[in-house]
Amino acid sequence: TGKQPVTVIGLGPMGQAMVRTLLDGGHPVTVWNRTPDRADALVARGAVLAPSAAEAILASELTVLSLTDYEAVRTVLEPAAHALRGRVLVNLSSDTPEKTRAGARWVAEQGGIHLTGGVNVPPSGIGQPGSTAFYSGPREPFEAHRPTLDVLTGTDYRGEDPGLAALHYQLGMVMFWTSMLGYWQAIALADAHGLTAADVLPHATETLTGMGDFLSFYAGRIDAGEHGGDVDRLAMGVASAEHVLHTNADAGVDTALPAAVADIFRRGMDAGHAADSFSSLVELMKSPAA
Ligand code: NDP
Repeated sequence: TGKQPVTVIGLGPMGQAMVRTLLDGGHPVTVWNRTPDRADALVARGAVLAPSAAEAILASELTVLSLTDYEAVRTVLEPAAHALRGRVLVNLSSDTPEKTRAGARWVAEQGGIHLTGGVNVPPSGIGQPGSTAFYSGPREPFEAHRPTLDVLTGTDYRGEDPGLAALHYQLGMVMFWTSMLGYWQAIALADAHGLTAADVLPHATETLTGMGDFLSFYAGRIDAGEHGGDVDRLAMGVASAEHVLHTNADAGVDTALPAAVADIFRRGMDAGHAADSFSSLVELMKSPAA
């Protein structure tokens, strides 16, 4: 086929989806995983299982890493350090921007090239048209491998600093985890009243889909340092957050999340923002000691 050989290290749900996509696209694929039998189905489809991470890396100019975190990356790469010279590692393992910078530095010290990636879709989105991922690191090797990465995950290049892809990924995750926990909380509360997740779905979807309008409305005001109470007031927000807390407490479901929310609102009141918009909580978050 003439397609570029690719190595994939890490065969969790994400790595497996990537290998299937690459094989379907006609790439020769070499794989390695700590637990080798996770490669069985992929080998049956045409992937080659390397006996070590080092041999896997030596098999292709381009290696994709899909591991739990950078501690796992270190554990896998240290014994393979001698194989890294001249190789391009696309590291799609998530971690903090600081850890990704340190990892990229270490790979460069071994003579390898490190590109950081942060994938924004679940395994089912890999290889699909709507897939998106942040990338950062040296531009030239990124551009050289962009066509392959475009097919695999989609590409949104954020710059040379290896930490940038991780930063943008984390910006999404801080919202993803808290939003999803809000959803689980709503389902627990609904369940206490005999409602199912399916019952709640239309209203839940409408609520979260409508969030975009709030984000656009507040973005300009926040960047201008405007937290005027012309549209909403924190004092109203506190009352509402406490209604949420008490509704959950009355239902006998877990209150850790609504209690944390009410606590943040109250701290905004204590800091003197009662008559300001609840967007003033951003200032509290920027400097928690203030
Ligand atoms: P998993 O955590 O299931 O992948 C684990 C992989 O890491 C396995 O190959 C596992 O090996 C390996 N691993 C973990 N610890 C070690 C170690 N100490 N030494 C060697 N290998 C180790 O993750 P996913 O496949 O779900 O995701 C991979 C990355 O992609 C993660 O960073 C995740 O945050 C990110 N991601 C995941 C998404 C998802 O929906 N799943 C979505 C977007 C990003 P073994 O098989 O031997 O256990």
